[in-house]
Amino acid sequence: MSHDVIILGAGPAGANAALAAAESGLRVALFDQQPEAGGQVWRAPLPGLSMPSSPELSSGDALRARLAASAVECRLGRTVWSVGSHFRVDAVGPDGNEHVEAPRLIAATGAHERVVPFPGWTLPGVIGLAAATVLLKSHGALPGQRVVIAGCGPLLVAVAAGVLKGGGTIAAIADLAGPSDWLRALPALASQPRLLARGAGWALKIGGARVPVLFRHGVRAAEGDDALSRVSLAPVDAEGAFIAGPERVMEADALCVGHGLVPGAEVPRLFRVAQAFDRQRGGFVPKLDAEGRTSLNGLYACGDGVGLRGALVAEAAGRLAGLACAHDAGALTAATFASVSAPAREAIGQARAFSDAMADMMALRPAQVAAIPPETTVCRCEDVTRADIESAYADGARDMNQLKQFTRCGMGPCQGRFCGDVAAEILAAKVGSREEVGTFTARPPLRPVALADLLGSFDYSDIPIPPPAPL
Ligand SMILES: Cc1cc2nc3c(=O)[nH]c(=O)nc-3n(C[C@H](O)[C@H](O)[C@H](O)COP(=O)(O)OP(=O)(O)OC[C@H]3O[C@@H](n4cnc5c(N)ncnc54)[C@H](O)[C@@H]3O)c2cc1C
Repeated sequence: MSHDVIILGAGPAGANAALAAAESGLRVALFDQQPEAGGQVWRAPLPGLSMPSSPELSSGDALRARLAASAVECRLGRTVWSVGSHFRVDAVGPDGNEHVEAPRLIAATGAHERVVPFPGWTLPGVIGLAAATVLLKSHGALPGQRVVIAGCGPLLVAVAAGVLKGGGTIAAIADLAGPSDWLRALPALASQPRLLARGAGWALKIGGARVPVLFRHGVRAAEGDDALSRVSLAPVDAEGAFIAGPERVMEADALCVGHGLVPGAEVPRLFRVAQAFDRQRGGFVPKLDAEGRTSLNGLYACGDGVGLRGALVAEAAGRLAGLACAHDAGALTAATFASVSAPAREAIGQARAFSDAMADMMALRPAQVAAIPPETTVCRCEDVTRADIESAYADGARDMNQLKQFTRCGMGPCQGRFCGDVAAEILAAKVGSREEVGTFTARPPLRPVALADLLGSFDYSDIPIPPPAPL
């Protein structure tokens, strides 16, 4: 094997794991489907685009410079579609399919976003809140000219500030949380003064632009003929259920909406490692020891893919997993491991209060799911509605794999990444608990890849044709 460890994901977690393992003397291959390292939060602009400076861009540039100066073999622009036994990783990149194997693997594949469906959420013009950060950071593009921003968590203010900075207008911000929720989180947020100051700067910009902020409001419906033109916002209670009160209809050509993130734990799940449901951390997450080891020997995991904790923790947890891997490979003595990993352990402890507060803000509110109307699409790849999910339950579906067999929910190109969490919540409300309904079984391809890329170029005349079987 040409590598000691393969790392999947070059965000704050995976890139720091790679640097720590390489500094300890391991031969490291680092994969990411993005052309540049940085992950979601420190995403690089598209090649040729220059973006105004920001703390995220500076952190990303610093990380990319450290990787370039390191011994890490960066295999960027490669989509990992399969991870098999002996940690054989298959990825499609510019030269077609390639594979590597190593005795150890660190999964740091981050999270994906959750949008709790509402009527009209599949209209052009409605995009995810997290997806909006990608548009703003990587493409330097606005989601629309007149934008409604809705959902929960810190991305609300981050996206709003980005839209204003790009010259867009915000019709309204609808936050599921109320001022009392933010006040309650304030002491925890103050434990990270730099991040709190950044958030406060965004809030001032939003206030200065006189953007209407509707606390404890959710999206009742998005409307328009061929594309979004109106968004109805209605008051909700602390659990996210709609309550009596005036509805506001906002004219808008874009709605950026998101209800937190879901850990992308497909790789640990492929190996059927022990996992547990943790609502605050975003859903089912692999069980890890304090240094990122899963229940399978040689498989480690870190970052938002193993529970939402944000970039600060992802960085430190990545470093810890990289060092643990080096220790287990015999490259670090126990004493060296203890001393070089101490700062990472301390950083995780210091960030805990902040990351817990943010995770609480983004946790799924079951009452919001209960309010999804029956005819609303939940799985948009396969057009499965809430009523379809409930009738599958009536027909006997009791877990996520049975739901998939009954309805095709989760069988489309996203493989259940976007619908799985909400569909599980709907089924769990009937069956009894999320633990009982479980998750879809993870299977390759982890991401959609073209068959032509897997086959590569070949000449039909070169294909050996076996002689006909004797009659
Ligand atoms: C779309 C999105 C936008 C976000 N924007 C922000 C933001 O603006 N500010 C903020 O504070 N937080 C943001 N977050 C939260 C943020 O992800 C975390 O706080 C932090 O980046 C976690 O770091 P990580 O290394 O664990 O994961 P990530 O940064 O998500 O990195 C994971 C990496 O794995 C790669 N990957 C995953 N699967 C594969 C595969 N099969 N093949 C190849 N590569 C793969 C991804 O391309 C990605 O680069 C965002 C999250 C999402 C999902």
